Amino acid sequence: MERTITVELGPRSYDVRVAPGLLHAVGQVAAQLDAGAAVVISDSNVAPLYGKGVLDCLAEAGISATLIDFPAGEANKNLSTCGRLFDALFAITPAIDRDCLIVALGGGVTGDLAGLVAAAALRGLRWIQCPTSLLADVDASVGGKTGVDHPAGKNLIGAFHQPSSVLIDPDALKTLGPGEFRDGLSECVKHAIIRDAAKLEFLEDNAAEILSHDGEVMTELIAWNVQIKAGVVSADEKEAGERAHLNFGHTIAHAIEAQVGFGRISHGQAVALGMVAACHMAVLRGFIEQDSAQRVEDLLRQFDLPVSWDGLNADGIWDIMQHDKKARGGEVHMVLPVVIGQVAIFDDVTQEVTSDAVEYLGRS
Ligand code: NAD
Repeated sequence: MERTITVELGPRSYDVRVAPGLLHAVGQVAAQLDAGAAVVISDSNVAPLYGKGVLDCLAEAGISATLIDFPAGEANKNLSTCGRLFDALFAITPAIDRDCLIVALGGGVTGDLAGLVAAAALRGLRWIQCPTSLLADVDASVGGKTGVDHPAGKNLIGAFHQPSSVLIDPDALKTLGPGEFRDGLSECVKHAIIRDAAKLEFLEDNAAEILSHDGEVMTELIAWNVQIKAGVVSADEKEAGERAHLNFGHTIAHAIEAQVGFGRISHGQAVALGMVAACHMAVLRGFIEQDSAQRVEDLLRQFDLPVSWDGLNADGIWDIMQHDKKARGGEVHMVLPVVIGQVAIFDDVTQEVTSDAVEYLGRS
């Protein structure tokens, strides 16, 4: 039941393969890429679970491999961790050269960090992504965005550096925490709303199988999400236009995260609320029916994602959005569904409509 999706980017095109057990194919893929050596970068949670298996299969393929780990968590996605990864990389003997392949083994934090190391070490090493969180499977591992946070903001330092291959093993999700799993589902709902109404039905029809990590259903789920993300990335690699559709739900989500406080609400929860608010705005503007917005809410609830939140302050959310707008030097761009399965970007969203949507989130 393996699925393969090609991210079409001319000479930088690559395949994303999805199948249970695919972590065992890392050695074979590294050998096909003629890697001289491999360095597996992973975090302190994922390395003990899957590090040895990946090292063993690289060794079986005749590739000398080293594992470097770093403390898990977004708080460590920064330049100082990056510096320590470079120190460990350049301490390997014999010294690595440009035939060295970086293997990112972990969630989105690992992919972003390892990808940045790959982009900069020796002016660019090839790398492969082996995502292990649902968010990384359906989003972060596709598209070649790498980077780290800075005290001035998230993901401010980074590079576009496409991987040579992405191997997604849905079996790895069995050890993922329920909160992280739920956060990934939020992005799946987003993909359905922005590109393919039939996928909303897939999520509704298969909710029980998804929540019980059924291998076949998870492979199918991940594959169509990758297909959607790959389509957007192929059309707009460097985020000049269409890739902004992926920000559906995120403009308000970022403001909610800032107001509620990072750590008190997860990114996936904030995106769920952002999508509810955006759907409400779309109802107010007459783009979608209330029934469609309700359907989205029902689905999010099924996945244990929030559709309302106590104590949000509408004026405060608007102020944060204005501040973000200045920081980006432009307008507030709001991505709204024009029908379920299709979105458009609007820069004329008023404070009144935003307040209405935020107040809607505060309903009991
Ligand atoms: P994460 O990498 O921190 O993973 C979440 C937690 O789950 C961590 O504690 C991790 O150790 C653990 N984990 C991961 N896989 C596991 C497994 N199989 N078993 C047990 N534990 C596991 O965060 P995330 O939610 O995967 O990703 C969020 C990050 O991704 C953010 O930094 C975000 O900026 C980034 N991101 C990047 C892109 C991109 O295009 N590059 C897109 C979306 C998000």
